[in-house]
Amino acid sequence: MPDTPGPTDADGALRLLDVDGSPPGTFGEFEPSGPPLLDRDGRVRLSFSRVDSYRTCPRKFRYAYVDRLPTEPSPHLSFGSSIHGALERFYDRKLPRCPTVDELLGFLYEAWDSTGFRELSRDEQLSWYRHGQDVLRRFHQRAAPGYRLPAATEAWFELPVDGQAVVVGSIDRVDADDDGRLHLVDYKTNRKVKDRGRVAGSLQLSLYALACQHLYGQLPATVSLDFVVPGVEVTARLDELDLDGARAAVLAAAERIRARAFAPTPNRLCSWCDFRAICPAWEGDGPQVLGPAVEHANELRRRLTREVRELRELEAGIAQAADDLDGSD
Ligand code: SF4
Repeated sequence: MPDTPGPTDADGALRLLDVDGSPPGTFGEFEPSGPPLLDRDGRVRLSFSRVDSYRTCPRKFRYAYVDRLPTEPSPHLSFGSSIHGALERFYDRKLPRCPTVDELLGFLYEAWDSTGFRELSRDEQLSWYRHGQDVLRRFHQRAAPGYRLPAATEAWFELPVDGQAVVVGSIDRVDADDDGRLHLVDYKTNRKVKDRGRVAGSLQLSLYALACQHLYGQLPATVSLDFVVPGVEVTARLDELDLDGARAAVLAAAERIRARAFAPTPNRLCSWCDFRAICPAWEGDGPQVLGPAVEHANELRRRLTREVRELRELEAGIAQAADDLDGSD
């Protein structure tokens, strides 16, 4: 690892790096997104989404958190933040009385984040809002019978990792059972449910388990993802998590970020990437760094075309031969 973390600006953020020789401001005026990348002690300030972004594509990470280019608001992000806001209000009560369905829908109204819907028609916006109401009605059916106040909602943490990094974030809900054991819950608003194995392998939940230990002095007994759209909660036990692996993933990302390793890594999410228009991997006709794979695919396509042509010729020859045989009878 280099001795120095690289050049920093007055905020402690790594300066725009001359990876393509592009000077700061190349991409126009913009508001920085998110907090600086290094804290006062020179530790890389990460979150689960920062680590995840770096592991998916270091160049995307650079655009978002080093260059701090703005990203487009999206309906899905705003929907997620609205549902999270409503559920936080649902559990953040002074008395252990379960709010009614109407109260929960009122929390959605208060928490509704319209930023990602601005480009949509009024009917489309209403459709998203009604979808949110349906999701919360279903959530209420599941949650009301066993409702109890959690130990915490949106529990903010700053988890130091070996003096090299700090992972910050907030845990959606921390429940405590009658034996004093803790259970972490994170809400997901995507439609697809992950199976138990993937929940146990979730880097996010392992980091939250470590954060729980840092906050409360004890590891959680279980961690869960609550997929609120389909209405399914998937839980994993503590012994199924890879806490050492989570620490190692954070340290590896922090080390690579300090070394300013920001190579573009085309992946299946490129189509949804906010930075594709400026990404060098997508200059010209396509992802240059995928050259060998594209070439191989082209070769397979050529071979397939050749073989289909041969097959057609063979079939035509067989048909002709059959006709000839019929005619000779
Ligand atoms: S377009 Fe793909 S390769 Fe380029 S920054 Fe985005 S995710 Fe990375």
